[in-house]
Amino acid sequence: MRTPEALTDRFREEGLRVTPQRQCIFRHLWGDDSHPTVEALHERVRDEMSTVSLKTVYQTVHDLADMGEVRLIDLGTGTQRVDPNAEETHHHLVCVRCGMIRDVPVPEEVPRLPSGARRGFSVDSVEVNYRGLCDACASVADD
Ligand SMILES: [Zn+2]
Ligand SMILES: [Zn+2]
Repeated sequence: MRTPEALTDRFREEGLRVTPQRQCIFRHLWGDDSHPTVEALHERVRDEMSTVSLKTVYQTVHDLADMGEVRLIDLGTGTQRVDPNAEETHHHLVCVRCGMIRDVPVPEEVPRLPSGARRGFSVDSVEVNYRGLCDACASVADD
């Protein structure tokens, strides 16, 4: 995702309205690697600017996704999550208990398809989800 300033310019170029509310959303997404739900993002934004509605957050996030600035991902946590890291291909750690999602850099060695599984399919990208328990959930499970 671009910086909040660059996003402001891009929205104007695309003919989209840039409001202080939208700029507040840009700022909160910038550098956020927690993969928030739209609702969680709304709560954070509202702490700073109480006039931002959930609908505005939803619309802004979808505009950003349409432009390829963020990705909306569903990793089986029951909710759609916002991933501002749309530039770099990366994998995810997914906690099956609390829904925590963390980025994992793609290792040099990309998992290869077993021979015979490709059957004419051409592969563009590979994404791996490592499912399990985060630190906090694992320590509760141990007790
Ligand atoms: Zn967890
Ligand atoms: Zn991610």
